[in-house]
Amino acid sequence: MISFKNVDKIYPGGLQALKDVTLKIEQGEFVAIIGLSGAGKSTLLRTINRMHDISGGTLEVNGQIVNDLKGPALRKFRRKIGMVFQSFNLVPRTTVIRNVLASRVPDLPLWQSILGLYSKQDKIMALEALDKVGILEKAYIRADQLSGGQMQRVALARTLAQNPEIILADEPVASLDPITAKHVMRDFKRINQELNITVIINIHHVDLALKYADRVVGIREGRIVYDGDVAGINEEILKEIYGHELTDDEKMGV
Ligand code: ADP
Repeated sequence: MISFKNVDKIYPGGLQALKDVTLKIEQGEFVAIIGLSGAGKSTLLRTINRMHDISGGTLEVNGQIVNDLKGPALRKFRRKIGMVFQSFNLVPRTTVIRNVLASRVPDLPLWQSILGLYSKQDKIMALEALDKVGILEKAYIRADQLSGGQMQRVALARTLAQNPEIILADEPVASLDPITAKHVMRDFKRINQELNITVIINIHHVDLALKYADRVVGIREGRIVYDGDVAGINEEILKEIYGHELTDDEKMGV
């Protein structure tokens, strides 16, 4: 379980990006975080694996107080949390399978990772992860020869190969065309349902959030203004989250 209790985040320049956030997310939930650009979505996501430290309150993940973690304990904690970014973050001139295997590096002795010597078991795990996102046949193709949707699937397979309990996805479909975006969202959904991995997606496509997530957290200026199931979202609530009525284009993230 992820539990925020009265969490604040103030950046070094003094900007307060999270204000008194209280939120509980159970294992296996699929949560979409929505809100205007600059509302604090990415900050919220990145406090969970401590890419950003919180400034006040308490954040607990699976029984551990995140702010107390240091050194090896922090590294071990982070291994259980996968992260997917808008820009995929693949190594372009390397094969797909090597990109996926990169997630095994923290578990290998340094000499082995430098030489790229992965065990048979690691390779099987990487191939299984590619199979789970439907691109097994691309395993030996160079990553830069893939389409955007395929690249995002590789990024998803890379996080799966680290055997995560939680996947944090920061605008994972923002640079994809609408059809590909749907396919990638479907992959997130399937992984969430089949593997019971908690998925938290920061997304500005309201329509995709409502179609694929079970729960929506709406943030405005660092505060949670909606937290509930998808069915509870209506025009009025969207207006509260976004500060104005959304056009159809805005709902599609255009
Ligand atoms: P969103 O993901 O909803 O677009 P962010 O979490 O990225 O919002 O940003 C929330 C606020 O925090 C914004 O005003 C942004 O400019 C500010 N911010 C984000 N990252 C930093 C940073 N590293 N240093 C200072 N301010 C930041």
